[in-house]
Amino acid sequence: MKLSPQTAPVEPDNLLIRFHNQVGAALDITGTRTSSRWYCHGCGYRSTLLEGVLITRQAANSHAATCRAAYHRLGA
Ligand SMILES: [Zn+2]
Repeated sequence: MKLSPQTAPVEPDNLLIRFHNQVGAALDITGTRTSSRWYCHGCGYRSTLLEGVLITRQAANSHAATCRAAYHRLGA
């Protein structure tokens, strides 16, 4: 299995939590404790709503646990 080159993208200033998907692509939660969202560097999927970090963390962790994308030329 080819690992993702997206394991350590530049950390945004408002990065709260970084997960990694099944092939090592970073999945970042950004924002504040009360208004956060997530973005997967492996497949480009992102949350559509701003939510509290506890809800965002749960959704991001679920995505990271199942995502096996390692896209190499995904524009952010
Ligand atoms: Zn993904």
